[in-house]
Amino acid sequence: MPRKRTRRNEPIELPILAVRDTVLFPHMVAPLFVARDRSLRALDEAMARDRTIVVIAQKDPSQQEITPDDLHAIGTEAAIGRILKMPDGTVSILVQGQRRLQLTEVLQEDPYLKGLLLPVYEAAQKKTLQLEALMRAVLALFEKCVKLSKSLPEDVYIAAMNVDEPGWLADLIASSLDLNLDQRQDVLATLDPTKRLQKISIILAKELEVLELQNKIHSQVQQEVDKNQREFFLREQMKAIQKELGDLDVQTREMEELKKRVSEANLPEAACKKAEEEIQRLAIMPQASPEVSVIRTYLDWLIKLPWTAETPDNLDISQAARTLEENHYGLPKVKERILEFMAVRRLAKEKLRSPILCFMGPPGVGKTSLGRSISQALGRKFLRVSLGGIRDEAEIRGHRRTYVGALPGRVLQTMRNAGTINPVFMLDEIDKVGTDFRGDPSSALLEVLDPEQNFSFSDHYLEVPYDLSKVLFIATCNILDTIPPALRDRMEVIELPGYIEVEKLHIAERFLVPKQLQENGLGPDQLRVTRGALMRLIREYTREAGVRNLEREIGNICRKVARQVVEGKRHPGRITERAVPDFLGPLKFYWGIAEEKDEIGTATGVVWTWVGGDTISVEVTLMKGKGQLTLTGQLGDVMKESAQAALSYARSRADQLGVKANVFEKTDIHIHVPAGAIPKDGPSAGITMATALISALTNRPVRREVAMTGEITLRGRVLPIGGLKEKVLAAHRAGIKTFVLPRKNQKDLVDVPADVKRELSFIFVEEMEEVLNNALLDSQPKEKPATPRGD
Ligand code: ADP
Repeated sequence: MPRKRTRRNEPIELPILAVRDTVLFPHMVAPLFVARDRSLRALDEAMARDRTIVVIAQKDPSQQEITPDDLHAIGTEAAIGRILKMPDGTVSILVQGQRRLQLTEVLQEDPYLKGLLLPVYEAAQKKTLQLEALMRAVLALFEKCVKLSKSLPEDVYIAAMNVDEPGWLADLIASSLDLNLDQRQDVLATLDPTKRLQKISIILAKELEVLELQNKIHSQVQQEVDKNQREFFLREQMKAIQKELGDLDVQTREMEELKKRVSEANLPEAACKKAEEEIQRLAIMPQASPEVSVIRTYLDWLIKLPWTAETPDNLDISQAARTLEENHYGLPKVKERILEFMAVRRLAKEKLRSPILCFMGPPGVGKTSLGRSISQALGRKFLRVSLGGIRDEAEIRGHRRTYVGALPGRVLQTMRNAGTINPVFMLDEIDKVGTDFRGDPSSALLEVLDPEQNFSFSDHYLEVPYDLSKVLFIATCNILDTIPPALRDRMEVIELPGYIEVEKLHIAERFLVPKQLQENGLGPDQLRVTRGALMRLIREYTREAGVRNLEREIGNICRKVARQVVEGKRHPGRITERAVPDFLGPLKFYWGIAEEKDEIGTATGVVWTWVGGDTISVEVTLMKGKGQLTLTGQLGDVMKESAQAALSYARSRADQLGVKANVFEKTDIHIHVPAGAIPKDGPSAGITMATALISALTNRPVRREVAMTGEITLRGRVLPIGGLKEKVLAAHRAGIKTFVLPRKNQKDLVDVPADVKRELSFIFVEEMEEVLNNALLDSQPKEKPATPRGD
């Protein structure tokens, strides 16, 4: 295109073409639409002269009529190429940018804009290393952009590669990128080529980041789409294969069946959602996968657990009272408490939180059978779980499904058997729960028992919360001491202390004998057990606080009789006192006073063990030696300490007792408590040990019909002890006549049945001296001493 030559830095006069939507760069070719009147005239003028015009962008693209102020200062000289006239009077032209021009003055506004412009020459740049590096960096960035971008053709990059001048390169890249008008004008107005290229490099870096991000998003979307398509495809394929193999019908039928069962099971929302998810997983799983059976078992659990089914409570108090009376002898306090509980429940209806009852007492006193009666009275299901020896939290709360063979914990396993959400749930032996590295089961139990938490009990296997709040929990224990305090606080403890002989007799007559007859297939008229026989069973064949062994012995007799009946042998219709050994062999316990005669160095004490109260005899022997004390018979720490205290008391009172002081240095003392297999502990054998010891030291025999209990202090005071009722019952059971006990325990005798009180004489003491006065006879110098005395 021809162009009028001007000399350097000489201003030139040119018609101005104001453009709204583009910025023309030097060397670039661009199509322009010309529509405005003044622009058309400027075009005419340029065509009339040398086809040269200056293209200047206007500051505000939306402005229709412009003044000189509305134009940017830097524009581009353009050579006009092809011109196309449109039917609507507008014109489309093709222009090629030449060089930058700076608008110095607007000479006229009408009929077209004309200005005086100064050419901007770009001095040939010296290619410094820096500049070279910049150019290469820009080119590299541009190459990446071209590769990532969909709109940049590869040709532009090739063109850019062949440009040598930094300013030109910047212009080329700026014109090819999709920049906004301000950015383009900014590049155009940056006259220094190096600076312009730097700007481009910043723009390119940003552009690249955007492009990379776009690409990433795009590929993610693509992946997702691909995955879905792939899954769909595979599933279809699998169906086809299964169809070929004839499996499809079975599997789809099973899925349908499962869905139906889930919808019928009335699951709460969370469980229902979980079940549906699992069914979904199952549907796409190959039949042979080991996961299939895991999911099936899991779904089976979800479906079979009771979620809403409930039995209506029978709150008829008088009927409940009758049920309890029919099943249980005695225990008035316990029965009263149960009926109160039902009464409150009847008044409060739904709002009430179930209290957690805890039955405490020795084995065989009827804790379990009481629980059963409560469920019967309320019309609820009865469940029982033994917690004895549990050390692993997972036993309560289950294993996560990731474990092979995982199952829910015992609580939910038991609930499944119940089939209703409001059974009576008995937690047996809650005092025997242990703790070790496998977690603390009692913390899981806390969650089971705490009314604040147990509406959403979490089992590791089940994964969805389970509501235990409607369950009536009853715990049982032998002792309270080993139950963690947090757990103990949540329970209302009801004590069942054990029975006396008369009570046992009544229980045997009214409940145990009829029950055993029935269990062994005998009619009531086929066998009668006389009172005398029962009494003998109680005294000579059992020694317990409850009636479990008694029931077992009655069962033994019934079985033997049943066999005789079946074998057609003659059998006694009546079991008398004398006939008992024929059935059960020789007696197992000597009833009555433990000792045959008044002995030196042996005293009878009453202590408390986990099977209830029990009598013990403490033996002391003295041997020549160096003053050593030996203790045997599985004594606990506290009991050992009481032995030490007893010894110190005896030493400190040696003078008063008539024992020479040097005896203690020359004698070894051995204290033994027989029945060594049963662990014994507690301070209540203190005065017994002191009595036996002093008897041995002073050669005074102990009166055989006396038993005693009480803690001893170093100064010889007798302190009160716990579990008195149990101990009195045990002394009574053993046939003791005189019972020495701490004065401070006198008040506890109110709990002891009158029958027992009548048969025992109680001596209340405060000082050890009183014990000795009552228990020891005078010394027997004539008899050869059983133990060495001091010389
Ligand atoms: P625990 O759970 O305290 O060890 P169980 O409930 O197993 O005791 O009782 C043992 C047996 O003694 C059961 O057959 C029970 O029916 C019977 N039994 C215990 N106490 C009584 C009682 N007061 N009346 C009737 N039967 C009783």
